[in-house]
Amino acid sequence: MADCVFCKISAGEIPSKKVYEDDKVLAFYDLDPQAPVHVLIIPKEHIASADELTEENSGVVSHIFLVAARLAKELGLKNGYRIVNNCGEDGGQTVKHLHFHLLGGRSMKWPPG
Ligand code: 5GP
Ligand code: ZN
Repeated sequence: MADCVFCKISAGEIPSKKVYEDDKVLAFYDLDPQAPVHVLIIPKEHIASADELTEENSGVVSHIFLVAARLAKELGLKNGYRIVNNCGEDGGQTVKHLHFHLLGGRSMKWPPG
């Protein structure tokens, strides 16, 4: 997707602080961290949101959760963490490329605002 910020990050056209990469996904630090650890994990394939997942493209989501759990260990989130997906306008999604926030290093509130 030509105008997608996360596609550009994935292609290396916009710099990012990468923490993990394989053929399917990329993980990098959020530009505006909301917790001591705030990593975004994205599929390299452009999927606009969780609402665009299908039987064909959704396998990457389980892979992202496995990567998140591995990163949480590597980044020292021994006390727990939160994985967040914002979907659509009411969900607070600002970048229209599927991504999961891995947040940790502080205690989180519930319910979210
Ligand atoms: P959303 O609100 O869509 O769930 O989350 C988008 C996230 O992407 C925000 O937390 C925002 O700080 C982050 N973000 C937006 N543009 C960039 C960028 O160019 N680089 C990085 N590293 N993060 C970005
Ligand atoms: Zn994209």
